[in-house]
Amino acid sequence: MSQAWVPGERLAGRPARPDWDVEGDGPRIGVLALQGDVLEHLRVLARVGARPSRVRRPDHLDGLDGLVLPGGESTTIGKLLGLTGMLEPLRQRIAEGFPVFGTCAGMILLADALAQDFEQPLLGGLGVEVERNAFGRQVDSFDTTLEVAGIGRVDASFIRAPRVTRVLADDVEVLAAVEEYPVVVRRGQLLASAFHPEVTGDDRLHALFVAHVAAQVARASTAST
Ligand code: GLN
Repeated sequence: MSQAWVPGERLAGRPARPDWDVEGDGPRIGVLALQGDVLEHLRVLARVGARPSRVRRPDHLDGLDGLVLPGGESTTIGKLLGLTGMLEPLRQRIAEGFPVFGTCAGMILLADALAQDFEQPLLGGLGVEVERNAFGRQVDSFDTTLEVAGIGRVDASFIRAPRVTRVLADDVEVLAAVEEYPVVVRRGQLLASAFHPEVTGDDRLHALFVAHVAAQVARASTAST
C-alpha cells in the first residue's frame, strides 16, 4: 500500500505528500490505524527518524520492526482487531518479543487485566492491570508535566486516561507515576503511557521507543551475519 497520500490533507490545503521519509533507513514502525489518533503518531515517528506506516490488515504487519497502538477507544480498537483478524497474529508477535508502544487506549490494549468488571478484547503482555477512565470523564481531562525515569520532565496530556492499578509481573518497570499509580511502564519490548505524548510536541517517549527498536534491529542484523 502506498503511504504517499494522507486523506484530507489536500482538502485542508496541506501538502498532498506527507512530510515523512518513506525511503530512509530508520526502523519501520507501524501505527495501528483502525481508530484513534493515528496521524499524530505518524508525524511524531517521522520526526524522530522512523519510517512510519499505517496498519489496517494482518499483512501490513509484514516487515515491521515495531508497532504503535494509538489513543482512541480501546473497546472499539479491540473489536476491530478481532474483525480484521489481527488479534491473534499480534498476540503471537508480542509473545515473540515484537516491540509495541501503546498510548492511552493503546496502554489498555497491552494490559493483561482490567480493574473494572468489563469484557473487551485485550492483547496483553504488559504485566499490569489497568483501570479505564481512571481520572474521570472527558471534562476531567488535563495537561501536566511529570517526571519520567531516564528522560526528565515530560509534557503529558491525560484524556480520559487509564492508570495502572496492579503490577502483575516482576519485570515490569515503572517509569512514571501519578500519586501511587504507574502511568508509564515498560516490560521487555513493550512500552506504554497512560497519557498522549503524540499530541504535546514532546517527542522524547517516541524517541526512546524508536531508539529501542533501532537497537533491536541492529542486534538482529548482527546475529544474522
Ligand atoms: N477512555 C478510553 C478507553 O477506555 C481511552 C482514551 C484515550 O485513548 N484517550 O479506551
